[in-house]
Amino acid sequence: MKKDLIRKLICFAAFINLLFLASPLLHSVPKKNTVETIRYADNKVIINVQPAVRGKRPSYKYNTLADNRFYIDILDSRVEKPLDFKASKGVVSRIRRNQYNNSTSRVVLHLRNNVKPKVKYIEDLSRFEIIFGKSTKKNSGRVFRVLIDPGHGGKLSPGAVGPAGTKEKDITLSIAKKLQSLLGDRDDVQVFMTRKRDQYISVSSRRYLSKKYGIDLFISIHANSHKIKYINDQVEVYYRDSKGKRLASLVRNELRSELGRKSEVRRHPYATVIRNNPARYGAVLVETGYLSNPHGEKRLRNGNYQSKIAKGLYDSIESFINSSYH
Ligand SMILES: [Zn+2]
Repeated sequence: MKKDLIRKLICFAAFINLLFLASPLLHSVPKKNTVETIRYADNKVIINVQPAVRGKRPSYKYNTLADNRFYIDILDSRVEKPLDFKASKGVVSRIRRNQYNNSTSRVVLHLRNNVKPKVKYIEDLSRFEIIFGKSTKKNSGRVFRVLIDPGHGGKLSPGAVGPAGTKEKDITLSIAKKLQSLLGDRDDVQVFMTRKRDQYISVSSRRYLSKKYGIDLFISIHANSHKIKYINDQVEVYYRDSKGKRLASLVRNELRSELGRKSEVRRHPYATVIRNNPARYGAVLVETGYLSNPHGEKRLRNGNYQSKIAKGLYDSIESFINSSYH
């Protein structure tokens, strides 16, 4: 019977719908703002948050107390886990983070002197920055040259193709552009791209651009594939020599914390784009996930997920720069 068939179809559609509702990917945005990692480097404390609504700044208030303590309350938020650590140098001596009450998270900074910091929220990076005076780094004024290399491109080199037809060359370009725009706001970084559109570029030309632009850091962005369909959708960061190793570890750590996925660092003796790459402080190749895995493909196609990858890469470049001259 036709009616019966229609009913069955509706049931099936409802079932599929349920499956999607249950999917963790679509539920990954929490109702509350989440206070994530905190970092202290040079003259600022960075508080990463995951806003309840992407792009919407969480409400907050802050104050400096008479006993050299500064606090910031992030409203309508929760803390993933409390934190209490002591800092050995700089203006901040101790950082604490906890759930102040049901709806408010609080970060307290114990200061060595009586200073009032500047507070700003950077929407693209979904983070607060608590800034204490001018940077104390010796390299103030130094500009780091970063070359972003979106893997593959053009008809000749689509790269891996996912089960739903997603091409690696499109994913890599999209992530690269997000990273480019994040880095574009920094005064201490000059960004270059090996390609800005769907275009074939040989591996040797990509490497040559490192030399031509006098590049400090080279990051090649890729997505992986494997014949085992449901292979663990993890991140792999490759380096070739000891220079690249340090950057590779930072990239691994940041992507692991940003994406919550397994991330590994490996030495790759053959990857030609990073081999003999003249980048002064190192070259790495990042396999951002497995495009051949249907779940991986879904993640990598997702604009929010791509933004998280870009933010992880941004944070690792920032850590590299911050730790370069200490
Ligand atoms: Zn690739």
